[in-house]
Amino acid sequence: MSYFRKTIAEMAGYTPGEQPPRGAKVIKLNTNENPYPPSPAAIESLKRLDAESLRRYPDPFSRDVCRAVSSNFGVPEEWVLAGNGSDELLSLIIRACSGPGRAVVYPMPTYVLYRTLAQIQDAECVEIPFPDDYALPLKKLIAANGAVTLIASPNSPSGTVASEAILDELARNVSGIVAIDEAYTDFADENALGLVKRHPNVVILRTLSKGYSLAGLRLGYAVAQPEVLKELLKVKDSYNVDAITCLIGAAALNDQDYKSANAERIKVSRGRLEAELVRLGFRVWPSQANFLLTRPPGGDAERLYLGLKEQGILVRYFKQPRLDDKLRISVGTDQQNGILIAALSGLIK
Ligand SMILES: *Cc1c(COP(=O)(O)O)cnc(C)c1O
Repeated sequence: MSYFRKTIAEMAGYTPGEQPPRGAKVIKLNTNENPYPPSPAAIESLKRLDAESLRRYPDPFSRDVCRAVSSNFGVPEEWVLAGNGSDELLSLIIRACSGPGRAVVYPMPTYVLYRTLAQIQDAECVEIPFPDDYALPLKKLIAANGAVTLIASPNSPSGTVASEAILDELARNVSGIVAIDEAYTDFADENALGLVKRHPNVVILRTLSKGYSLAGLRLGYAVAQPEVLKELLKVKDSYNVDAITCLIGAAALNDQDYKSANAERIKVSRGRLEAELVRLGFRVWPSQANFLLTRPPGGDAERLYLGLKEQGILVRYFKQPRLDDKLRISVGTDQQNGILIAALSGLIK
């Protein structure tokens, strides 16, 4: 007999993007981290850390984070739930809502973790293919009527956004939870935060990992009506966000100007990088995130991925249907992007 449930023994498990050891000389464009440092105000906040706040358990409701979200985004504090990264919040929703006979529905290709989390619950995954332009397959998503429908917007790996109007229609026509994963919203022209007021089944998920340059901190938040958050609270660890994360995270959220200025810089670099890739003959999908999905000439993606890696440049290659001829490239600084373009033009010659 196995020690483990059949599902666990047989599943593959999620493989995160490669994280080279600290100090390794690489240009890291594979996991969509922000190339700029976190807010100086966030780092400065560490000086206010006292021993007493470490001796005691942290606030189980991370109220400093909820308050910062509330005052910067105009939602009531009671509508915010903080998590150990938005990955934890995804896990809470899927654990609370899905299981045998309660399907998890999402368009494909998207964030691979959705499938892993659903599998752990023994929930059926209904994977609905995106069309080539990554417009949301609304009718099929509605027809599947999941206990949980997951929409990444901007989507990874395509960078494409689902409009608020489309998401509104989705939320109105399914009976389960619609979780809108806005991990990349800081780089986008529109978001769907306004939907939580109109729909009791909408949960918006955000993270400090991308826009705020704090992937190492592990902080995300959900915005939804209090009736939904009340149920998710039953599932979470009591002390899911530690005292240090709460302190730094609140300070970062309160420094919107710094975050927005970096996001603007990245958006300008994204446009330049896109133009350079197109010049080299790559197809590039229109992105509202801090990365580009791109198909090299001839679909020669795996060779380019390996060739770049040999030169110390990491990009993301997904060996899976529809993506194995493409690369997902995080937008770095202009200097990093320049080195990437030079390497790519050498490799495709
Ligand atoms: C990066 C990412 C997340 C994870 O965010 P964390 O807060 O670091 O857990 C969630 N969803 C998508 C689509 C992402 O790309």
